[in-house]
Amino acid sequence: MANTNFDITEFHWLMDMLQTIDVGLVVLDRNYAVQVWNSFMENHSGLRPTQVKGQLLFDIFANIDEDWLRQKTDAVFLLKNRAFTTWEQRPYLMQFKNYRPITGTEEFMYQNITISPLVSANGEVNNVCIIIYDVTDIASNRKALEDANKELARLSRTDKLTQLNNRGYWEECLVKEFNRYQRYRHTCSLIMFDIDHFKKVNDTYGHQAGDEVIRVVSRLLRDSLRTTDTAGRYGGEEFGVILSDTDAQGALVFAERLRANIEAMVVQHEDLAIKFTISLGISELSSGCKSYKAWLEESDLALYHCKHHGRNQAHIYQAGE
Ligand code: GH3
Ligand code: MG
Ligand code: MG
Repeated sequence: MANTNFDITEFHWLMDMLQTIDVGLVVLDRNYAVQVWNSFMENHSGLRPTQVKGQLLFDIFANIDEDWLRQKTDAVFLLKNRAFTTWEQRPYLMQFKNYRPITGTEEFMYQNITISPLVSANGEVNNVCIIIYDVTDIASNRKALEDANKELARLSRTDKLTQLNNRGYWEECLVKEFNRYQRYRHTCSLIMFDIDHFKKVNDTYGHQAGDEVIRVVSRLLRDSLRTTDTAGRYGGEEFGVILSDTDAQGALVFAERLRANIEAMVVQHEDLAIKFTISLGISELSSGCKSYKAWLEESDLALYHCKHHGRNQAHIYQAGE
C-alpha cells in the first residue's frame, strides 16, 4: 500500500514537471488525436488542454505539413524508434510567434522536434510523444553568423571605391572562363579598357575628382552589363569585362556603346565639369591562347594599339599584333 502511495506521489511530481518543463509536449494517438498538451503548448498556442483533447493535430494547426509529419510518425509507430528533425531541415513544425526579447527579429519560433514511441505494458505502441524544443536563439545566432560570413566574403571580392569585383576575384573568374573554354569551346570575349590621360584628370582637378571619375565609369559599366558578364577593376583606372557567349564583333558593339556613352558624359564634381574618354582592347578567346594570361595579354596589346592610334577608340586584337 505504502508503495502505491509513493507511486501516486511520484506520478504527480512527474505530471508537474511535464507541465512546467520549458519544452512542448504533445501525446498523440494513432489517429493524431491529442492526448496530452502541456503548459508550454498552452502558452504558445493559446489553447488550453481541455480545448484540444481529442482534437486532431491537423485540425488544430492548419499549416502543419501533414504528409511530412504522417510519414515521420508512421515510421515511429512501425519501427518503434525515435525520429528527430532540426530547425535546419525545417524551421518549425507548429507556427508559434517568437516573443523572445533577444531574438525579437525572428518572426517565428525555430524548433527542433523529436517524436518518440510510447510503449504500453503489452509492448504495443499506440501513442507517440512529440517534444518541441525552442531553438530560436541558436538559429538566430547561427543565421547572424552566416550573414556576417556572407558579407565578409562579398567584401573580400569587392573593390571598395567602385563596388565592382576586385582584381583578385575578377582574375579568378577569368581563369574559370578560360578553363571552361578548354572543355566546351564556347565563344567568349574579353575587354580591357583604360581611362585616357587620367593623370591629367588628377593633375587638373585633383585626386578626389579622379576618384569620382573612376566611380562614375564603374557605375556606367555596371549598368551596361548583362547578368552573364563579369566586370572588375583591374588596376587604378583600368577595367576588365568578361563577356560570355559573345564573339569579338559582339564585344566591339558593347565596347563602342560604352566608349560613346563615356565620351558624351560630363562628370560634375563640386563645381567642376569633367570630360574624358576611354580606350578599349578586345580579344575573343581562341585555341591559340595557351593560358588565361595570354588571353589577357592579347586584350592589353589591343588596348595599346588604341593608345598609339589616338585613344578614345575600341580595337579587336589581330594575331601578330
Ligand atoms: P593613358 O591615356 O596612356 O592611359 O594615360 P594615363 O595618364 O591615364 O595613364 P597612366 O596609367 O600613366 O596613369 C594612371 C594614373 O591613375 C596614375 C595614378 O596616379 C592614377 N590613379 C591610379 N589609381 C587611382 C585612384 O584610385 N584614384 C585616382 N584619383 N587616381 C588613381
Ligand atoms: Mg589611363
Ligand atoms: Mg592605366
